[in-house]
Amino acid sequence: MIKVEEALDIVLESVKSMDAEKAGIIDSFGRVLAEDIKSDYNIPAFDYSAMDGYAVRVADTKGASAGKGAKLKVAGELRAGGDTSARVEKGQAVKIMTGAPIPQGANAVVMVEDTKMEDGNVAVLEEAEKGENIRLAGEDIKKGDLVISKGTLLREGHIGILAALGIPEVNVTRRPKVAILATGDEVISIDEDIKPGKVRNSNAYSLHAQVLACGGIPINKGVARDDIEGLKAKLRSCLDCDIIITSGGVSMGEYDYVKDVMIDMGMKLKFWKVAMRPGKPNLFGIINSKPFFGLPGNPVSTMVGFEVFVKPAILKMLGRINDDRREVEAVLEEDIRKKKGLKFFIRAQTRWEDGCYITRTTGPQGSGILSSMVKADSFIILPEDEELVKQGEKVLVRLL
Ligand code: AMP
Ligand code: MG
Repeated sequence: MIKVEEALDIVLESVKSMDAEKAGIIDSFGRVLAEDIKSDYNIPAFDYSAMDGYAVRVADTKGASAGKGAKLKVAGELRAGGDTSARVEKGQAVKIMTGAPIPQGANAVVMVEDTKMEDGNVAVLEEAEKGENIRLAGEDIKKGDLVISKGTLLREGHIGILAALGIPEVNVTRRPKVAILATGDEVISIDEDIKPGKVRNSNAYSLHAQVLACGGIPINKGVARDDIEGLKAKLRSCLDCDIIITSGGVSMGEYDYVKDVMIDMGMKLKFWKVAMRPGKPNLFGIINSKPFFGLPGNPVSTMVGFEVFVKPAILKMLGRINDDRREVEAVLEEDIRKKKGLKFFIRAQTRWEDGCYITRTTGPQGSGILSSMVKADSFIILPEDEELVKQGEKVLVRLL
């Protein structure tokens, strides 16, 4: 049996980055950037006013106070989008709006609130400081700056920056198509009436959502029955995708055919059985250079197997430079007994309280208890060699 870390290394070594495709700025939201974005411009492109007020020469406001304002002649008005060739001479001020270019000669903007009008002139009621309320050309982004790195997941702010840089289209990595095939004679579709002995195909749906959440394109390939020929046919129909995921049929049961059928179809088996709970029978192989994940069928095992192996693979294929996975130390609120030799992923609720994380399990941890996934906002991850972890001890928690 292989350890989780070794198994994950094998998965990551086996998958390659997807190629790039063009996406319009709006469609690039939520995608992974496949190029470095450098700026061809200074942003802002010119010095401008951050306030509505008066552009002045600092020297003209020396000694000004609320009691004794510095009187300046108003030489004109500048609005946003206005004249860039205006000038402020000694003893003058120019009325200026937010966003308007700073007139030549001025080296500060006094906000309206610090001025008052006196017989057609403006009285500045405070000494101005050099550079006050002026936004300088290039203070946000300088021409030539690397603004967004290849591998970044594009979020709201990135989309705004691309617009500011005048970039209507970018290269993003192609989203991998992920075939999802459920297996099992007992598995029925979600619109069928439940009968004794049957279970609705929840796995295909939780996997669908998990694939979407990490940037893949889920493709539901239905349910294969536990017979060799049927399974083969269904699996063959998955080979047009970039990744293949099955649920069920990888344990020790008499009708667990997935491994043998896949090997028969030409899959190179990389590992089967990982020292973990839930999800020991996890299987991974390569077929036609594509990763194949045979996840166990128990609903929690399926989801944990995805989180531990498939998600990192998809993020690598997307070329993501950070996977926003957050692991923290938390204080345990209850004793946990575990089987030695397996790494445990325990559904948990974790909160921040009095300067530290505190965590407790969601209750029963059976791999069929799907409601434990609903209650959980985190996994407590307990290492292989532990047998008993006591209340008050610190444990590793992965926040979901
Ligand atoms: P298996 O890994 O095939 O032995 O299945 C383990 C358990 O998971 C069994 O109780 C199955 O009924 C259940 N199961 C398998 N596939 C699904 C599925 N697609 N949706 C929900 N439960 C499933
Ligand atoms: Mg089965």
